[in-house]
Amino acid sequence: HSIGKTDIDIAQHASLKPIKEIAETVQLAEEDLEYYGKYKAKITYEKIKQLKTKKDGKLFLVTSINPTPAGEGKSTVTIGLGDALKQLGHKTVIALREPSLGPVMGLKGGATGGGYAQVLPMEEINLHFTGDFHAITAANNAISALLDNHIHQGNRLQIDQRRIVWKRAVDLNDRALRHVVVGLGGPGQGVPREDGFDITVASELMAVLCLAEDLEDLKRRIANIVVAYNYEKKPVTVGDLGIEGAIALLLKDALKPNLVQTIEHTPALVHGGPFANIAHGCNSVMATKTALKLADYVVTEAGFGADLGAEKFLDIKARAAGLKPDGVVIVATIRALKMHGGVRKEDLAAENIAALEAGLLNLQKHVETIASFGLPFVVAINRFISDSDAEIAVLENWCSERGIPVSLTEVWEKGGAGGIDLAAKLLEAAKQPHTFRPVYPLESTIEEKIEAIVRQVYGGRGAEFSAKAQKQIREFEQFGWGHLPVCIAKTQYSLSDDPHKTCRPYDFAIHVRELVPKLGAGFIVALTGDVLTMPGLPKEPAAYRMDVDADGRASGLF
Ligand code: ADP
Repeated sequence: HSIGKTDIDIAQHASLKPIKEIAETVQLAEEDLEYYGKYKAKITYEKIKQLKTKKDGKLFLVTSINPTPAGEGKSTVTIGLGDALKQLGHKTVIALREPSLGPVMGLKGGATGGGYAQVLPMEEINLHFTGDFHAITAANNAISALLDNHIHQGNRLQIDQRRIVWKRAVDLNDRALRHVVVGLGGPGQGVPREDGFDITVASELMAVLCLAEDLEDLKRRIANIVVAYNYEKKPVTVGDLGIEGAIALLLKDALKPNLVQTIEHTPALVHGGPFANIAHGCNSVMATKTALKLADYVVTEAGFGADLGAEKFLDIKARAAGLKPDGVVIVATIRALKMHGGVRKEDLAAENIAALEAGLLNLQKHVETIASFGLPFVVAINRFISDSDAEIAVLENWCSERGIPVSLTEVWEKGGAGGIDLAAKLLEAAKQPHTFRPVYPLESTIEEKIEAIVRQVYGGRGAEFSAKAQKQIREFEQFGWGHLPVCIAKTQYSLSDDPHKTCRPYDFAIHVRELVPKLGAGFIVALTGDVLTMPGLPKEPAAYRMDVDADGRASGLF
């Protein structure tokens, strides 16, 4: 029973099995692994190649309503559902993203689940894990260093230093680095120019790593990254700089999926971690595809609500990688729905049926969205101990009246046992015949794609484009980039681009202020509202509560 215990207490008291034993349960032998300590291993490229001829398992995607400060527990449900499928006797692998240090030290917390539904070792996964993000940060900054050096050494490519779009990266929330000037100090110190830092999880290299099919594809994608424009306003790529080989080399180990385990010893591949608000929001294609070869059922998660992570999972990742999800779980909590219904965080403990009913409109939109993708789904009520029986009954009845499959899920408190009903209902739902339909065809124009997402997924009236965005769209079409999918950078708190418009806003427009070509990732980012690619820290960062004792034991990590 997890009441009164923190996530880290539970994690530190769990017993882990050597990773070799976890690997054996999915027919991975010792030679298929590269160990990172006792409880973490990467899977070798040789093994991944060998697996190519095997049949794929079924793929379940976990998404949620729009997040609120009350917390939704998507990772928790993803892990608990994986444990439940395993308890039912199915060979199951979970595929999750790696946490970013920015939010770990800042506000949101980690990404290893909670209560009795966690992946382990939680401290290591939440801190430096197998070093993948550090490798991405280093590779990102190597591009910056080589680019600045190219300009310093004579600028053969005629790069216009006012039109460099590649930024430096660090995996922290550090608002002071959003805008910087580099190259100060005179001719010996390089060429001065404006630069800036993105958080590593927003870097294009993160998206590239997550969408690459293998090392060759990684290198090809890296070469395609647009880093700047020249004095003729033509794009300059990493390939033009001739450094894709070096950058791919820096990522050669980071591209291999990481194997860990849940508290119940279910295998989990935790790999890659772009945010869903400012990037595409899903774990790596390498990990998802490997998981599908190893298991009969794979449970994966896409970040934030279905308007962000799930849309991008389905329109970008699934399409690029040829994945076809077999079922979706939409996580909702009574607390978050009450917040959408107007209750303040301080007042969440009190029963409030009227607010819950008002907040249900948010869930309704996401149910409509997933249905419009043609996918079967189950609503998972992630139960908090503060939920009253009357509130739970209201939510369950609301779903039943509409023929929406719903499951009261108690994985946080009970582990996999609390998710058996969800697993059974999802397996049942997935048996229905269904046809997955992305929101837009790739042949549509950039405007049409954005409009389609705004109408079908956000429930808005349409998109408004700034003069700059309009000009960029014309340029991008001339460069032949019009066929790419779009990745909308938008606040996670609202279906609109205004974080204050919670629940279900109607008749709103999305404001596209700027577009960013991400040719390595293979999509065009559309920046809306004020969404930032380098977050700041809050007044009371989570770091204030953290400590480590003389034996190296962590505390205060959630
Ligand atoms: P998300 O993936 O939606 O961001 P997480 O699964 O990471 O959410 O959970 C965020 C936090 O909420 C974790 O600290 C977790 O322990 C807590 N949490 C999740 N579900 C519950 C629950 N049912 N009861 C209490 N706390 C929960």
